[in-house]
Amino acid sequence: METIIIDGRLGEGGGQILRSSLTLAMLLGKTLEIHHIRAGRPKPGLMRQHLTCVQAAQRISNAAVTGAELGSTRLVFSPGPIKAGDYQFDIGSAGSTTLVFQTILLPLMQCGEASTVEFIGGTHNPGAPPLTFIKRSFLPLLRKMSGNVELEAKRWGFMPVGGGHWRALIKPSQLSPVECLERGELESSRLTAYEVGLPNRVAERELRKYKEATTIPVNEYRVRQPVAGSPGNLLTHDLVFENSNICLTHLGRPRISAEKVAMELLNKVQEYLATDAVLEEHLADQMMLPMVVAGGGCFSCTHLSLHAETNMEIISRFTGRPLSFGNSRLSY
Ligand code: ATP
Repeated sequence: METIIIDGRLGEGGGQILRSSLTLAMLLGKTLEIHHIRAGRPKPGLMRQHLTCVQAAQRISNAAVTGAELGSTRLVFSPGPIKAGDYQFDIGSAGSTTLVFQTILLPLMQCGEASTVEFIGGTHNPGAPPLTFIKRSFLPLLRKMSGNVELEAKRWGFMPVGGGHWRALIKPSQLSPVECLERGELESSRLTAYEVGLPNRVAERELRKYKEATTIPVNEYRVRQPVAGSPGNLLTHDLVFENSNICLTHLGRPRISAEKVAMELLNKVQEYLATDAVLEEHLADQMMLPMVVAGGGCFSCTHLSLHAETNMEIISRFTGRPLSFGNSRLSY
């Protein structure tokens, strides 16, 4: 089996290098040898979330692994064939479960049978795709490429307590390339403030501030109180265009006022609407691996983050075929 050696200090130097490498190793049946894991972060090495990603990848591919320990900065991972099944992965902390999901999603889609995967841990974490973003931004694009996945959230989990619990049904899917360049006119939009166990009417104040400050047409403002294992707050703006839709999200944080959270989301939404692109920076890095599996495709994209550039480099090392970015288009 061919071995791909990856230096974790590359580009961003974060956890995405490990996760993309695990996914590609499983998809391509190559051994991954990775050094200096998360060397660019204040606490390098495998944290709980990253370790759970390794363990989940090991379970679904029956991989031979060395170095799968907390704090480890070196890992060797030799996958076997991917096995569909009923799996459960518990991070054991409030670490992000959506990042574990994204690590194993594409390999499980390649199986001839469906898998159900339960996740326990954080669902709405800073620096990771919130489960709401996965459901309303990432999966709709994956469905355009014929990806067949359904999610069921039982409980949300916010930092630092976690306690989230959700389930993914991943059906066999043959991804096909799509060209998604023009989002078309904005048809409708909706703002939602989610609030669990917080004082001071945070959700209502967020909606009020947003309403006051925005010049974007909003058809509906609503407050929701999801079932959750821990207190927290999320503000989302769903934008439905003629050809695509996206849900931009922003998490509330302790000691940051509801009004500030509202303005931070509004800035994100305005920045997105100031371009014509389909993908914003997070979707740009998250749609790259699906494009590789589909064997092609093209999306318009606001810009590339260092994250996205790092992901492109990893893909190139594994496949020998780079993605390209130019003229606000990401192509494979
Ligand atoms: P680290 O190694 O940095 O501690 P990590 O394992 O959490 O971190 P990163 O390498 O930072 O991971 O990757 C985080 C992923 O989460 C990226 O794919 C990024 O696009 C995505 N992401 C971060 N913030 C958001 C957000 N607000 N919405 C959607 N996706 C996000």
